[in-house]
Amino acid sequence: MSSPPSVPDATGHFGKYGGMFVPETLMAPLQELAEEYERARVDEEFQSEFESLLQDYCGRPTPLYHARRWSEAMGGAKVYLKREDLLHTGAHKINNAIGQALMARRLGKKRIIAETGAGQHGVATATVCARFGLDCTVYMGQVDMERQAPNVQRMELLGAKVVPVTAGQATLKEAVSEAMRDWTATVENTHYILGSALGSHPFPMMVRDFHRVIGQEAREQILSKEGRLPNLLVACVGGGSNAIGLFHPFLGDEEVRMVGVEAGGEGIVPEKHAARFQGGKLGILQGTKTWLLADQDGQIELTHSVSAGLDYAAVGPEHAFLKELGRVEYTYATDFEALSGFKELCEIEGIIPALESAHAIAHVAKVAPQLRSDDLIIANLSGRGDKDMEQACRLLMEE
Ligand SMILES: *Cc1c(COP(=O)(O)O)cnc(C)c1O
Repeated sequence: MSSPPSVPDATGHFGKYGGMFVPETLMAPLQELAEEYERARVDEEFQSEFESLLQDYCGRPTPLYHARRWSEAMGGAKVYLKREDLLHTGAHKINNAIGQALMARRLGKKRIIAETGAGQHGVATATVCARFGLDCTVYMGQVDMERQAPNVQRMELLGAKVVPVTAGQATLKEAVSEAMRDWTATVENTHYILGSALGSHPFPMMVRDFHRVIGQEAREQILSKEGRLPNLLVACVGGGSNAIGLFHPFLGDEEVRMVGVEAGGEGIVPEKHAARFQGGKLGILQGTKTWLLADQDGQIELTHSVSAGLDYAAVGPEHAFLKELGRVEYTYATDFEALSGFKELCEIEGIIPALESAHAIAHVAKVAPQLRSDDLIIANLSGRGDKDMEQACRLLMEE
């Protein structure tokens, strides 16, 4: 396998994207985190503890499943699903939460904070805090707390304190701001487990590395099942952690095409979507320079998606870089298309996907019929849809 590009550079830049745009008080702790992570990265003991927790506690490796009935119904490419939905807590997010809990322990920090949108990252963080005996506080928008009530209960059951955030749109962006405010005041004893490949260096790199296992496994699995690499990889892109985890180990394989699918919401008009590469521009938000949705004065725009996990105004900086290089293509699926994908996978394969993952499914449904029967697609099924049950049933009834 050719080695992955060695981005980011020492200052956390992926080309002109990324970096460390944080208040002065956070510079030293972030630098300390970056240095400690560089040591952990090459520490065999750290890596083997990480791997064994992923295996025995989280359920890795996840299967690479040939969706035969769905492939046949579409009449084109042969589609495989990488089953991150089968992991402990129901989504890929636990990979990163485990890795960062190990980092917190290395740094001697006993208190953890996190932000959460749909609640999946909050649940993963509360889970690892219980497992490692760490004190846990999760910031969550008031609106998200209402629409994702079961996840709030799960976090509380796991011993976490869930703090409602009422500012602004009262969703993910405001929750991140609150978490950063907390961190600025408590960084001496607190580690911030950021939930996606976003924010200041070293988070985009560290979160990516903790999710690379998705692509590493998928690569081995497809080679053993098919004896060759896939033609196409597809993943949904919120902050971009499940996508970069799948894509990264294949970046050196020129013949493998990759498509990231953003949330098209109700269509590409301001405030109705979260597709940063469609209506967005270059800017700085919450620690990083990247593509984001802002108006002419640079004010961050409201976003919308049927899936809370994709409903964020900025995309991870490495994705901005990969788009500029032309290595990864980015497109979007609308709420309506995602719901159709959701329903199709339920009915044909007996798998209820997360609404986030349903965006990747929707894109596969668009392109697979145009491909040849010997073309191979791997789509990342980033999570399961239990959390979305109520919302999906309501929306499907309205149709
Ligand atoms: C959080 C979440 C996402 C979006 O986050 P990324 O960092 O873009 O992966 C996608 N799918 C599921 C199931 C999630 O919980």
